[in-house]
Amino acid sequence: MTALFDLDDSYARELVGLCEPWQAAPAPDAELLVLNGALATELGFDVEALRSSDGIATLIGQRLAPGSRPVAQAYAGHQFGNYSPRLGDGRALLLGEFTAPDGRVRDLHLKGSGRTPFARGGDGKAAVGPMLREYVISEAMHALGIPTTRSLAVVATGEQVMRDTPLPGAVLTRVAASHLRVGTFQYAAATGDAELLERLTRYAIARHYPHAADAANPYLAFYTEVVEAQASLLARWMSVGFVHGVMNTDNMTISGETIDYGPCAFIDRYNPATVFSSIDHGGRYAYGNQPVVAQWNLARLAETLLLLFAETKEEAVELATAVLVSFTERCDAHRSAAMRAKVGLAGIGSDDPTLLDDLLALLHAQAIDFTSFFRSLSNVVRGDAEATRAMFADAMAFDAWAQRWQAARASDGRPSEEVAAAMDRVNPIYLPRNHLVEAALVAATAGDMKPFTELVDVLAHPFDERPGLNAYALSAPAEGAPYRTFCGT
Ligand code: AMP
Ligand code: MG
Repeated sequence: MTALFDLDDSYARELVGLCEPWQAAPAPDAELLVLNGALATELGFDVEALRSSDGIATLIGQRLAPGSRPVAQAYAGHQFGNYSPRLGDGRALLLGEFTAPDGRVRDLHLKGSGRTPFARGGDGKAAVGPMLREYVISEAMHALGIPTTRSLAVVATGEQVMRDTPLPGAVLTRVAASHLRVGTFQYAAATGDAELLERLTRYAIARHYPHAADAANPYLAFYTEVVEAQASLLARWMSVGFVHGVMNTDNMTISGETIDYGPCAFIDRYNPATVFSSIDHGGRYAYGNQPVVAQWNLARLAETLLLLFAETKEEAVELATAVLVSFTERCDAHRSAAMRAKVGLAGIGSDDPTLLDDLLALLHAQAIDFTSFFRSLSNVVRGDAEATRAMFADAMAFDAWAQRWQAARASDGRPSEEVAAAMDRVNPIYLPRNHLVEAALVAATAGDMKPFTELVDVLAHPFDERPGLNAYALSAPAEGAPYRTFCGT
């Protein structure tokens, strides 16, 4: 058979010392559960060929594409604030890189492909449910316009993996701008090999921020780009109520893409203290804490790069601090722009600077569904406030806020229909709501892929209301225990 695609081995070749050559474990009875045809086409792959048995074998590293030299990548990381010097791909492999038709280089990567030299106590495996979970949520994030790693396929291995109970095993095939993480730099810095760290940084600049190479201080320009990319990303997360759940430094990319969909989930009833992860007892990665944690992680990145910033440590710290401090302003600016778009305002008059903060306080006080509220607000612009008012136990409090909002809108002076349509393009109606995702994964684990496939299809167009899909727009029933998510599954 002809090759499906060729791969490069730039990471394996250029960053010896930051990876271990390795092979995927056998999959006794591989079965394709889902293939992302739209993504495959966008990447220039032959969809039908990928569906063949050779194609499936290539997708999970059982058959190597020409040029592929799979490696497990090394990285360190702060997990919940505690430093682990050696994490790395315990159950993942980088198959290689390829240049897509858009001219951009991407990684082809596996998750759940067996134990590696970084596996520590883990079994190297992944279960069908969590891999499909990453698939549906990452693809939903992409459809929302949020930078993210993508999911190309999930293949069941035919093997059982032991969790609390035996579960069907799977491998996720992931596509990303790269898998360089803050933790990759921490690992490189900890080797004490200054040349290796510099080589890694040059590699990262070439892949993600090539124009930084032309700056007067390329390494500081690179760091500034990462800070800006993360400030923008965090603002996007906040604007859709996304809670990553495990923002360890090994789960923060250099590219600015969202990565590692473990315990992530979307908030429904608005509360900035929302935590879903079963192990996040202190609320370190709570919804409202995410920008602060991102900045903390970026401080760890700066520490690894100090030697490259300036001759003396004092000067390097001064330069790095100025950039790190700018994160808050950058993130706030992105958040405020996103929030203004959500409520249909081009500008907020200086006469009402607390309009948006007061809205969030109101949503919190009355435990209003974040997604439903913002989506319904365009109806108020169109002249129908009833459904929005009905969300509030105390509708007068909403009326009082809405009066201020309408005054701000009046001073904006844009036509209502234009504003309402623009709001509907930024306020999703369909999201991977927790109860929908759970129901789809339970069915898939029992062998029925239909609810999963339908959910993926709905979420591919999160802003376009379509008939018959109302169940996908509703918040979860109020009763029952709080939603809980789990890592490392
Ligand atoms: P995560 O929380 O998924 O970002 O993973 C944190 C670390 O644990 C990474 O080094 C993973 O490779 C590793 N890891 C997670 N699950 C497993 C597993 N089942 N087997 C081996 N390593 C794992
Ligand atoms: Mg991770």
